[in-house]
Amino acid sequence: MITLRDITKVYKNGPLEVQALHPLNLQVEKGEFVAIMGSSGSGKSTLMNIIGCLDVPSSGSYELDGQQVQTLNEDELSKVRNQKIGFVFQSFNLLARQTVLQNVTLPMMYAGIPREKRNERALDLLDKVGLGERIKHRPNELSGGQKQRVAIARALTMNAPILLADEPTGNLDTKSSVEIMALFQEIHAEGTTIVLVTHEPDIAEYADRVITFGDGHVLNDKRKGSGLS
Ligand code: ADP
Ligand code: ADP
Repeated sequence: MITLRDITKVYKNGPLEVQALHPLNLQVEKGEFVAIMGSSGSGKSTLMNIIGCLDVPSSGSYELDGQQVQTLNEDELSKVRNQKIGFVFQSFNLLARQTVLQNVTLPMMYAGIPREKRNERALDLLDKVGLGERIKHRPNELSGGQKQRVAIARALTMNAPILLADEPTGNLDTKSSVEIMALFQEIHAEGTTIVLVTHEPDIAEYADRVITFGDGHVLNDKRKGSGLS
C-alpha cells in the first residue's frame, strides 16, 4: 500500500539545513495498523506529511496504492489526498461554525456527491462513531473525545483505503483515548490501513506494528506477536 524507497528530507532555511529524514526505506502492507513512535524532532511529522502527500521528499521514491507519487502534479496530488487518504489530527481541525453533520459532509460536497447521498453517508458514519444524536451540535458543544469522533467520521467519508492519524489522542483524557483507539481498531478490522503517530507507549500497543524513530532514522520496527523485526 505504501512503499518508501531511499526517502530523504532536508529542510533549507537560508544557509541552515536540517536533515529530518535520512535515507528511509519503509513498506506498509494493505490492512496493516502501524504506530510510529519517537521523541520530539525525530522526524515523525515529516514522515506523515510525506506519506499524506502534504509535502514532498528531497529525494527517493514513494509508491502509494500502485501510484508513483513523485510523478504527480498538484491536481493529481490533491485528488490522491482526497480519494486515498483520511486525515485525523491532534487538534481535531473541525470547522467551529458548522454543525457536526456539516463537518462530516464537507469532503463529500467538495467531491461533488449529491446532498441526499452525502447526508445519508454522514448519518451512517456518525451512527457508527456513536454520535447519531449529536448531528445538529457545533464542535464547542462536544467533549474532546466526541470532537475526535466527528473528525474520524469525516476521515472515513470518501472510503479512503488509508487513515493517517497524527497524535489523535494527544488532547484527550485516558477514557476518551481508549474509546478512540477501540474505534481505530474497529476501522482497521474492516480493512483500512492505519498509520498513527503517538509518543504514548500505551497507545502504540493498539497497533500491530510499532516503528520507532530517532534522529530521522528507523531505530526499531517490530510486529506484534513475532520476535522478528
Ligand atoms: P517530530 O514530528 O518527530 O517531532 P519533525 O518531523 O517535526 O519531528 O521534525 C524533524 C526535524 O526537522 C526537527 O529537527 C525539526 O526541527 C526539523 N523541521 C521540521 N519542520 C521543519 C521546517 N519546516 N523547517 C526546518 N526544519 C524543520
Ligand atoms: P499539531 O500536531 O501541531 O497539532 P496537526 O496534527 O493539527 O498539528 O497537523 C499536523 C500536520 O498536518 C501539520 O503539518 C499541518 O500543517 C497539517 N494539516 C493540519 N490540518 C490540515 C488540513 N485540514 N489539511 C491539510 N493539512 C493539514
